[in-house]
Amino acid sequence: MAGDLGSYPTLVVDLNKFRHNGEQIVKRCAAAGIKVTGVVKGHNALPSALRLYGEAGCYGLGSSRLEHLAEARRQNLAGPLMMIRIPMLSQLPELVGLADISLNSEPAIIRAINEEAKRQDKTHGVVLMADLGDLREGFWDRDELVKTAIWVERELDQVELKGIGTNLGCYGSIKATPEKMLELIEIAQAVEAAIDRPLDIVSGGGTMSLPLVLQGIMPAGINHLRVGEAIAPARDLSHIWGLDTPFLHQDVFTLQAEIVEIKDKPSYPVGDIFVDGFGKRGNKAAYVDRGIRKRAILAIGKIDFADDHQLDPRLPGVEVIGSSSDHLIVDIEDVKSGLCVGDMMEFDLHYTTVVYLTSSPYVRTVFI
Ligand SMILES: *Cc1c(COP(=O)(O)O)cnc(C)c1O
Repeated sequence: MAGDLGSYPTLVVDLNKFRHNGEQIVKRCAAAGIKVTGVVKGHNALPSALRLYGEAGCYGLGSSRLEHLAEARRQNLAGPLMMIRIPMLSQLPELVGLADISLNSEPAIIRAINEEAKRQDKTHGVVLMADLGDLREGFWDRDELVKTAIWVERELDQVELKGIGTNLGCYGSIKATPEKMLELIEIAQAVEAAIDRPLDIVSGGGTMSLPLVLQGIMPAGINHLRVGEAIAPARDLSHIWGLDTPFLHQDVFTLQAEIVEIKDKPSYPVGDIFVDGFGKRGNKAAYVDRGIRKRAILAIGKIDFADDHQLDPRLPGVEVIGSSSDHLIVDIEDVKSGLCVGDMMEFDLHYTTVVYLTSSPYVRTVFI
């Protein structure tokens, strides 16, 4: 049903820019001896975009949702499919059927994967996760990780130890540094010494770890990254890290929304400030009195994009003021061109807005 009643809101996806970004990231990682799994959860595995990762040279696709890997399977795409959230015990038949590799931290789950793989007459690869301080998934105890690796290697017939990995910058906001990568490499070396063979995968993280590659300070020994954001929408490297990334297009995604009201109004609410549309207590300081201003209302809201702070208007002079479930309010006092009701307005997008927009049944997606 996605947005089939009318033309807007629309998410426009530029497939050439998308592929270009993939190629640029893959090329730079390859020069550092690193292969890249393309992570597709950030756009809910947009069907028309999935083949681009392979065309760009990615080492298969990854996602935190099996539904996304199912779409990749339907398309018969080349390369291993990687489940990047610890699989659920209740979902192992589907996991083994759809994914080639999964990230893991629980021996009980790995044991059950082995049983399920036996039933399906398949081999499933596992990457054991080490928690290096971000406090999301992974073994905290290094010895326990190494022991589990040896157990997988020696005892489990249908599960193959593909490697180890880590994740940073997700829960604990911990930065990827050469020191953190060296910790992971040390664990990899301990595992390799114990099993007497090199690991296929030493996975140093996602987009958060890419600056080390781009700055040429990624320690040798990391040979894999799982990259989503830096391929599309590709804004964090410049916006968060302040890196110069002229080789990446930051406008792979464009949001188009339609103006349904334009009026001159006070900028400070008139009456007793009480609660907003979400039942949240009104905060007087959140409203700034700038006198009478020209404002437009667009037919799109928090239900579609979640966070209006992550919408960057393309038209100079437009400023996002706020939003409710179904309305986005922008200040257009300083816009030079004459805007009219019915006009379409464009926005650049960050990661979170793309996640929500691609899951909203009210937003249509168009590929160019
Ligand atoms: C989401 C995720 C990634 C990709 O993160 P980006 O910041 O989009 O590159 C990689 N690994 C894991 C485990 C993830 O959950």
